[in-house]
Amino acid sequence: MDERDVVIVGAGPAGASAGFFLKEERPDIDVLMIDRLDEGKYSRYHRMCGEAISRAAFKDLAPLGPTNVVNRITRMREEWPGGRVVEAKAVGYILDRPAFLKGVLDRYRGRGGELIHDAVERVSSVGKGTLLTMTSGRSVLARNLVAADGANSVIRRTLFTEAPPIMIWTEQHIVKRKVREDTITFLQAERYKGFYRWEFPSGENARIGFPRGVDSLAGEEVLETHRRPIPMGGLRTLVKGNVLLTGDAGALTNPLTAGGIRVAMLSGRRAAEAVLWGDPSSYQRWWDRSPFSSGTFMRAFRKLESMSDLEYEEASRGLNANPLSLAWGYLTRPHLREIYGAYGPSGRYGW
Ligand SMILES: Cc1cc2nc3c(=O)[nH]c(=O)nc-3n(C[C@H](O)[C@H](O)[C@H](O)COP(=O)(O)OP(=O)(O)OC[C@H]3O[C@@H](n4cnc5c(N)ncnc54)[C@H](O)[C@@H]3O)c2cc1C
Repeated sequence: MDERDVVIVGAGPAGASAGFFLKEERPDIDVLMIDRLDEGKYSRYHRMCGEAISRAAFKDLAPLGPTNVVNRITRMREEWPGGRVVEAKAVGYILDRPAFLKGVLDRYRGRGGELIHDAVERVSSVGKGTLLTMTSGRSVLARNLVAADGANSVIRRTLFTEAPPIMIWTEQHIVKRKVREDTITFLQAERYKGFYRWEFPSGENARIGFPRGVDSLAGEEVLETHRRPIPMGGLRTLVKGNVLLTGDAGALTNPLTAGGIRVAMLSGRRAAEAVLWGDPSSYQRWWDRSPFSSGTFMRAFRKLESMSDLEYEEASRGLNANPLSLAWGYLTRPHLREIYGAYGPSGRYGW
């Protein structure tokens, strides 16, 4: 029986980060990473993303820095029902995400980390750890298991009882259209039911996404289309024995902004540290106290989900780049406090 100190299932942002930080901190640790997708499919899968990440994210992830930058973002633009447009400073990047992840994985492998392509099909707890069986028939016993296997995590479904609090099916299209290359744009409206439509630059093209089936792209030249769910809101339990759920496997994506790359990578890092300390439950404590898990975001999402276009319009009047206007909105429109209260934190921790 193949037996490993640490097995990471999934080589996306959460898994790549967990592997990188395990090997960065302890090059001699025995780590096996498993991803079901070969190189071509992996690239396509990981392009299904707005690929936006804030500059602040890299403070949490040092020594990893922003590489494979396609666009430098300086502004965020929001279009609200009634025609109000709010623009604010927002500093970050659009990455070539598959290339960025490949760079992180190369550094992991450069320190002796192992990555194999196989799909984990069955998972069971055994005395000393967790037994994983793969499509190829190969099995491995993980003394510590980092679950980074995304929205439909087989590890979460098998070993944990909770489902993601929110699961939104989205579609994203890469379209041949030039948009402002330094700006990420969000369209807010009742029809998105708490979510939004995004229009991000992507080199010479744009990435446009929204909840599945809500908008049409008539008249656009669509180059590529992807459909996927985003699990959001965070599970209450992320650790069971030596099994740790990270990133989308734990539904850690922010329920208001749907930003998930930063929190996936940070959770991978914190899970790696908890494993190295021999204290998996410290990972749960980190999450429970972290600003990323604040209930503010979920309350704002639930409020937006129930609002009409008229109420959206009213809410937008309290929003502009001046923080005082936010405070004024908070004080004078108590029925919209969930939204004004979440606005600042979502800029700091939402992407
Ligand atoms: C349309 C869309 C746009 C988005 N835009 C943004 C954005 O602009 N900014 C942002 O911050 N976030 C964005 N997100 C969210 C972000 O993409 C996710 O939160 C992030 O990818 C989560 O990373 P992860 O590593 O947890 O999971 P994933 O990225 O889903 O990676 C999981 C990995 O696990 C592998 N895997 C799955 N099951 C198995 C198995 N059984 N065996 C072996 N391997 C397995 C998969 O092949 C995959 O490589 C977006 C999401 C969507 C759907």
